Amino acid sequence: MPQVDEWVAEARQALAADNRLVARGYLRRAAAAAPDRLDIWLDLYEVTELPADRKRCLERITALDPGNVEARSALEEILQKEAEEEEAAAASEAAADAASAPDPTAQADGPPPKAEWMGVRLDISDEMRRQWDEASAAGEPLYCINHEHRETALRCNRCGAPICASCAVRTPVGFRCAECIRAQQSIFFTVRWSDYPIAALIALLLAVPAAAVAGMVGWWFALIISPLAGGLIGAIVHRAIGRRRGRWMWLMVGACMVLGALVVWLATPSALIAVGIHTFTATSAAVGVLRLRGPR
Ligand SMILES: [Zn+2]
Ligand SMILES: [Zn+2]
Repeated sequence: MPQVDEWVAEARQALAADNRLVARGYLRRAAAAAPDRLDIWLDLYEVTELPADRKRCLERITALDPGNVEARSALEEILQKEAEEEEAAAASEAAADAASAPDPTAQADGPPPKAEWMGVRLDISDEMRRQWDEASAAGEPLYCINHEHRETALRCNRCGAPICASCAVRTPVGFRCAECIRAQQSIFFTVRWSDYPIAALIALLLAVPAAAVAGMVGWWFALIISPLAGGLIGAIVHRAIGRRRGRWMWLMVGACMVLGALVVWLATPSALIAVGIHTFTATSAAVGVLRLRGPR
């Protein structure tokens, strides 16, 4: 495969010029095209800092050369570290669950946020960013952090990682990688699964009497008072779940409001107009309150 050799030669040249990033790009291409060439994987291992890259290199190296004790022990170290991290993550999740006793006011002093909840992705080092910056300043090719063959000029404007067109997510503040978006959303959407049934129960318990009063008093009540009642229900639910935000909270509370009104209408069919207007005004107000406090 002459092309693979060309890439390897390009990589060696780049490496001689101390440009590890370009060398890595060529070596990744070469390794993907010729996955059985031990020399390429060994070279790639030397120039890459990406944890996923390093692991894959070591896996290939030990598969192709089972006698390479160094590679084997490095791989074992990585696997052990991964297992430990998984364990720690599971433990801190369990701790978070244990700490989430139903105290709606205790949001501020809950469990300390996990590092990846702070809105930054942790697998990008300053060193990697510096190399990307240098390469792009020098007009050298960058490769998508998720797709090693895709040359790209796009970069995540938060972490700086090069991303291809299919990995880039357009946001109001520019292109971002999916990891950064997830990291940021994880600090925004703080809701726990247990919050949903609590919110549903409260919304239903409040929606039924609200709709019943509207049905008894009449349509003018539904027009004037129901929006306030709906807003109040939204605020009460929000407070009851410790002001945590959930992506679908508004939808579920809205559904419960409609369900509550439906129950009332079935019980008093003659109040159709008042209950109908109430359903619309109160539900949109409750949904509006929750969407204000959690983004779309
Ligand atoms: Zn990013
Ligand atoms: Zn990509």
